[in-house]
Amino acid sequence: MELKDSMLVKMNESFALGDDDIHRYQNRQCVPNVDDLQTRIIAEAHGSKYSIHPGSTKMYHEFKQIYWWDGMKRDIEEYVAKCHKCQQVKVERTIHTLEDMLKACVIDFRGSWDDHLPLIEFSYNNSYYSSIGMAPFEALYGKRCRSEVGWFDVGKSYILGPKSIHESL
Ligand SMILES: [Zn+2]
Repeated sequence: MELKDSMLVKMNESFALGDDDIHRYQNRQCVPNVDDLQTRIIAEAHGSKYSIHPGSTKMYHEFKQIYWWDGMKRDIEEYVAKCHKCQQVKVERTIHTLEDMLKACVIDFRGSWDDHLPLIEFSYNNSYYSSIGMAPFEALYGKRCRSEVGWFDVGKSYILGPKSIHESL
């Protein structure tokens, strides 16, 4: 038997029709794309305005133990990416992160907070973000940020001020 044939046999063996008339693929329920059923399942699992709106990775992890359909992962990712509530939460989270960084900077360096804005921008843009798999700088400019900024032992030398950091970008 050719390799291709044996793979087809294996695939067919993975699909089964249960006594309950439900098609299964490796014990996962096959969801047909009728009446928007797939989207409705995703919508229900992702949530109404009262639920917690899980991310697509978490959702896919849970879905793949129960359901199966062609392109399920992509469908979940697209649904979550389009969710208005999730986008809103993401923006609010960014603002919170920036606020926290700003507060930390003011405590650490003292002085006027607006002096630290370029430093915060630099730091935020160069932090790794799991949602996009890279730092925002990389996402925006298609390359890693290279700068002349160095971190030195306190007391030995002076840390470059936010102005120099901004100029080096
Ligand atoms: Zn959502």
